[in-house]
Amino acid sequence: MNNNRGILLVVSGPSGVGKGTVISKLFEMDENLYFSVSATTRKPRPGEIDGISYNFKTREQFEEEIDNGEMLEYAMYGGNYYGTPKSAVEKKLAQGKDVVLDIEINGARSVSRLMPEAVLVYILPPDMAELRRRLEGRNTETEEMIKLRLETAYHELREAPEMYDFFVVNDVVESAASKIEYILEAKRCSRIAMQKALKQILEEVNSLA
Ligand code: ADP
Ligand code: 5GP
Repeated sequence: MNNNRGILLVVSGPSGVGKGTVISKLFEMDENLYFSVSATTRKPRPGEIDGISYNFKTREQFEEEIDNGEMLEYAMYGGNYYGTPKSAVEKKLAQGKDVVLDIEINGARSVSRLMPEAVLVYILPPDMAELRRRLEGRNTETEEMIKLRLETAYHELREAPEMYDFFVVNDVVESAASKIEYILEAKRCSRIAMQKALKQILEEVNSLA
């Protein structure tokens, strides 16, 4: 039972760790989730669809949306803008849907300041050699971009322990997704999430007393 606002779940992790893969599996397990499609100025990868993977924008379009206050948060990553559209996230949370953001650490920090109730999950690789293997195996980046993404990963991994609420190792996709689902389930049972249900029960108890 979830009578309140939805949960805002922020998922971060080094590039290539499997965030997209684990989030897709999570969506197969849980029907109450809404994925916030980010805007980016990065070029689409083969197979990425505008409006589903990302909303692909020009730099001018993106900066105009920032100026109009349309972004909940945004950050620069690998020389491109990435940002979360505010209105869709607000609307879904108000409807009681749990919203999933796949964003990097600076965006996660901004979200956590704006919405301290957000749940921050960081996905870890089994080890750094496996991270490199996955990043290279995906075959989407140039050697230069792989280097840049690994450097960003080292930076993130130094800061993440101070910031995130939960850490999930992506060894096997299904088990990593299940762990995130458990985190969501636990949050749905928290005092704050259960406020309305608790109030209702108390009213019944009081009327019986
Ligand atoms: P991210 O969204 O974090 O950049 P992806 O979801 O694109 O990462 O995954 C990067 C690569 O790693 C993909 O080729 C994906 O198939 C692979 N991958 C993801 N999770 C696992 C896993 N648990 N074991 C092995 N390979 C994985
Ligand atoms: P990629 O280019 O691999 O799709 O994404 C690069 C990084 O940008 C990843 O760490 C991803 O989590 C992050 N990212 C994707 N969308 C957003 C967003 O809306 N805001 C922020 N801050 N980061 C994002």
